Amino acid sequence: MSHVMNTYARLPVTFSHGKGSRITDTEGREYLDALSGIAVNTLGHAHPRLVAALAEQAGRLLHTSNLYGVAGQETLADKLCALSGMQEVFFANSGCEANEAAIKLARYFGHKKGVELPTVVVMEKAFHGRTMATLSATGNRKVQAGFEPLVAGFVRVPYGDLEAIRAIAEHNKNIVAVMFEIIQGEGGIHLCDAAYYRGVRELCDARDWLMICDEVQCGMGRTGQWFGYQLAGVQPDVATLAKGLGSGVPIGACMTGGKAAGLFGPGNHGSTFGGNPLACTAGLTTLACIEDEGLLANADRVGKLIRQGFADGLAGVEGLVDIRGHGLMIGVELDRPCAALVGQALAAGLLINVTGDTVIRLLPPLNFSESEARELVDRMIPLIKTFLAG
Ligand SMILES: *Cc1c(COP(=O)(O)O)cnc(C)c1O
Repeated sequence: MSHVMNTYARLPVTFSHGKGSRITDTEGREYLDALSGIAVNTLGHAHPRLVAALAEQAGRLLHTSNLYGVAGQETLADKLCALSGMQEVFFANSGCEANEAAIKLARYFGHKKGVELPTVVVMEKAFHGRTMATLSATGNRKVQAGFEPLVAGFVRVPYGDLEAIRAIAEHNKNIVAVMFEIIQGEGGIHLCDAAYYRGVRELCDARDWLMICDEVQCGMGRTGQWFGYQLAGVQPDVATLAKGLGSGVPIGACMTGGKAAGLFGPGNHGSTFGGNPLACTAGLTTLACIEDEGLLANADRVGKLIRQGFADGLAGVEGLVDIRGHGLMIGVELDRPCAALVGQALAAGLLINVTGDTVIRLLPPLNFSESEARELVDRMIPLIKTFLAG
């Protein structure tokens, strides 16, 4: 019997090593990785520059403490701010922690202006993490069930419904922020039109609320832009990162700008591990590789190729509902629950995911090649057709 706590429904496979977008299991079988550990392995597996940088850093310093200066944090924060248009960065170790920092910021912002019960508007189908505050912010009952009482201070609206936010603002004087994913990841790759994002920004400006973008999944080049909000043409006050930031080394970040910058001072927040030298090296090397290898343009081009490939290959197929996404954040929605496809793809040597019950989710490494994209599409299409015919 396993002594690992039984919190995951795991697939029957364990991996031994990888190279680029190929990963090999302990039996020696090779797979094409179109999931990247859920948008984490930005550079694929065993990227030589990342391996060398991590080895070099491990040989000097792994960890010191936030009691002292950490050189890598300064450079990584400079770099992230230059790319994101934000002003300061708090380093955490994961997405939920980055979001905890954002939620604390929103409450602090509210209290500072005399709001007694600061409340954050959140979305249906949102996913923000598994800690008490972030699962309370999450719009999925399965994540919350059994863990009540939930953290107070959230109100929920349908994603994409600007009127619903306006209506809440009319009777609830405690709203201090709107928190959402530009492209909902776990919820099923849902996105809105640019007018919605602009509308949220305008509401936040008019009402003096913080606009908080959870970029944990759709940030870090995933969509072909550095950050999802850049696709949308809006600038949030707070944006959170994790997943792809460290290419597999745990690191999260909560970035602030505009009226959210400068809110926190010493004692307001902290983390033992957050932004340690090894994690910052992973972040800096990830950013450098995205830039030097042209991975934003690659994500955009290869993503289009994949979506077009599915559109061509599945044209007229009964049961296909939609193909959507940006860059290498892709959803193929079917008209029925399709979790079974994950195991069928695995058996066929492909790592994919299904989320929101009916949406095939693809999140390949940002350096996925055109030929890997064609291979993915060519191998997935018969699987999908057989599944839909069955
Ligand atoms: C994965 C995810 C999180 C949670 O990140 P963890 O590192 O698992 O805590 C939060 N928000 C979004 C949008 C995510 O995709």
